[in-house]
Amino acid sequence: MRIVKQAADLSLIIDKQRNSGKKTGFVPTMGALHEGHLSLIRQAACESDFVVCSIFVNPTQFNDPADFEKYPVSTAEDIALLAGEKTAILFLPAVDEIYPAGTKPAMHYPLGRLENLLEGAARPGHFQGVCQVVHRLLDIVNPDLLFLGQKDYQQCMVLQKLLEITHKSEKIRLRIGPTLRENNGLAMSSRNRRLKQQELENAALLYKTLQLLKQKLCPGATAAILKEATDQLTEAGFKVDYVSISDAATLEPVAEWNGIQQVVALVAAFAGPVRLIDNLPLN
Ligand code: AMP
Repeated sequence: MRIVKQAADLSLIIDKQRNSGKKTGFVPTMGALHEGHLSLIRQAACESDFVVCSIFVNPTQFNDPADFEKYPVSTAEDIALLAGEKTAILFLPAVDEIYPAGTKPAMHYPLGRLENLLEGAARPGHFQGVCQVVHRLLDIVNPDLLFLGQKDYQQCMVLQKLLEITHKSEKIRLRIGPTLRENNGLAMSSRNRRLKQQELENAALLYKTLQLLKQKLCPGATAAILKEATDQLTEAGFKVDYVSISDAATLEPVAEWNGIQQVVALVAAFAGPVRLIDNLPLN
C-alpha cells in the first residue's frame, strides 16, 4: 500500500492505472477505522482493480466545533488495518491540500428537501460540507466506483444527488454496503470510541428501538409507535434528536402507512455527549 499526501501525485497515479485499463474503487473515510469501513474496502477490492481509501477529517461538515475537536484520530492503527487489506493507495491529505483556496465554500449544492429533513434539519450546513469535501475528493480521485455505507442512509442519498449535480453520475457508480454491527446490534461507528463501557452497552438500545418499529409497523397512523420508540430511548437516558418512519426514496416522514410504501426507520440520539445515528429499512 502506498501512502499519498499530495492531490496532484494521486491524480497522476490514478490516471496511469486508468490508462492501463484498471477500474478504480474509492472509499472515502474520516479514519478511526473499524470493520464497517473495512467491509467497504473488501467490497471495493471485489468490484474494482485498484482500491483507493482516503482518510480526512473534514472540518467543513462539523456543525458542532466540539464534535470536530473530539473526533477520534488513530492514523497509525488505520494504516496497519488498511495495509492488511487490498488497499492500493491511502490518500492522507492535509487540510490545505483539500482546500487550497480555504474552507469557505465556493458553491451551494442544491440538495432540495434532503437538506431540511432529519440530519439536514438537525445539523445545519452538514450536508453542504459533505458535498464540498466529496466533490473535491472525486475531482482528485475520479473513480469508477464510489463505496458508501448504508449506516449513513441520508448521506448516500445526498451523494447520489451530488453525482447528478456535478454531472458525474454517468461516469461514477455508487455502491452501498450494508451496516456492520457489534454483537449487541450497535452500528459500528468511529464515534463509539468516545463511549464508556456502560454507554456502549446502552447504545444497543438504538438498534432495538429500530427493530421494535419494524415489528410494530402496520398499516395506519405511525404516531403511536414513534412515540413509544422515543419514550423508550428517553427513559433510558438518551437525548433524542429524531425518530422517524420515512419514505425510503425521499425520506419524507410517513404519518399514515398504506402497507405498500417502502419505508425506513431512522434515529439520531445523544448518548451523553456523543451523537449516534442508525437506520433500518422496514419492508
Ligand atoms: P466515516 O469515516 O464515518 O465518514 O465513514 C466512512 C464510510 O464508512 C461512509 O460511507 C460510512 O457510511 C461507512 N460506514 C460507517 N460506519 C459503517 C458501518 N457500521 N457499516 C458499514 N459502513 C459504515
